Amino acid sequence: MSEKDDIATRLAAVLPDAGGAVTPPIVQSSLFTFDSYQSFEDKMAGRSDANIYTRVENPTVAAFEGLMAEAEQGEAAVGFASGMAAISSTLLALIKPGDRIACVEHVYPDTYRFMERMLRPIGVQIDYYPPQQFQDDPDLLDGITLAYLESPGSLLFQTIDLRRVAEHARQHNVLTMIDNSWASPVFQRPLTLGIDIVLHSASKYISGHSDTVAGVVVSSHSHISRIRELTLPLLGAKLAPFEAFLLTRGLRTLHARMMQHQATANSFVDRLAAIPQVRKINSPGANDVPGLMGRAGLMSVEFDDSVDIPKFADALQLFRLGVSWGGFESLLLPARVGLAQAAEKNSMQKFGVSPNLVRLNLGLEAVDDLWADFDTALTQSTT
Ligand SMILES: *Cc1c(COP(=O)(O)O)cnc(C)c1O
Repeated sequence: MSEKDDIATRLAAVLPDAGGAVTPPIVQSSLFTFDSYQSFEDKMAGRSDANIYTRVENPTVAAFEGLMAEAEQGEAAVGFASGMAAISSTLLALIKPGDRIACVEHVYPDTYRFMERMLRPIGVQIDYYPPQQFQDDPDLLDGITLAYLESPGSLLFQTIDLRRVAEHARQHNVLTMIDNSWASPVFQRPLTLGIDIVLHSASKYISGHSDTVAGVVVSSHSHISRIRELTLPLLGAKLAPFEAFLLTRGLRTLHARMMQHQATANSFVDRLAAIPQVRKINSPGANDVPGLMGRAGLMSVEFDDSVDIPKFADALQLFRLGVSWGGFESLLLPARVGLAQAAEKNSMQKFGVSPNLVRLNLGLEAVDDLWADFDTALTQSTT
């Protein structure tokens, strides 16, 4: 990646001026006052861009949004209190009863539950397709309002040629929306490939420290304006100033962290390939699909039946057990833990996942320590 493409370098150039401060100040205020009747009325009449109330706008949040728009090469961005708030607020701003959504299978489980438990009951039709079908079968988009994509996904890590899907979507007048949390803007910029709307669970790589829950959407001025007029103020799941400060801090090390995650993931892929108990490695990397520029640290591995997975999980010392990902610490999520959830809420049962699958979040610890832990636990749990 060239110097010009280094997000940290580009971000340094657009940090807002704050009297010489190198980090944006946290403007911890719910409201902003006006120095005259006229300036108050101008704001209400839409003739000024002054701040008025933090549910709608806040300078610290705006600084983060500006940086995200820059990082994803979009026109505008809007922050949210969580990735799910970003997803639900965007869909509710753009979708109405009677519309049809084409969604990728194995979509993030709470996105699936939002589709099934909140959109379907109000008359939105949702159909799920294997990711590959979005690129190979343009007719899939007939009569569709919005295509909801994840590429790579966050369980099986299937990829889609986004440029091709964007072309099909333009021909069918379909909106395209992608969850880009896995790649981060360092490894994939879907807007540059023709996708309409990009969102992130900023709780993951953008925060990078497992200390924040947040979300962000990047798109054109017109889509972001619609969200800002409807669901941002009316559902009110806004991003808080302190969280926005942490996310801006995260963005400044995002490039460096992604490079280290990639180096560790590359090393794991090489070493896993030589392990007899490993049936399948799901870990896309640079150029596996057009527009994908690197390998993130989240991957999954399918073992053969010789591995006792609960025993493997308990034998790990450095890897911890848990959901989420994108922070410093390495984590294991066995698929069978997800499969244990009640059936009516469970997309893993619906779309089918091997109980021998485990998801690894490779963090920022030393790769040789991580491998030693993984390899020792695997030896101890193989019969
Ligand atoms: C975590 C996650 C989300 C949801 O984000 P929250 O910040 O937890 O609300 C959405 N998509 C993916 C791929 C995720 O991993």
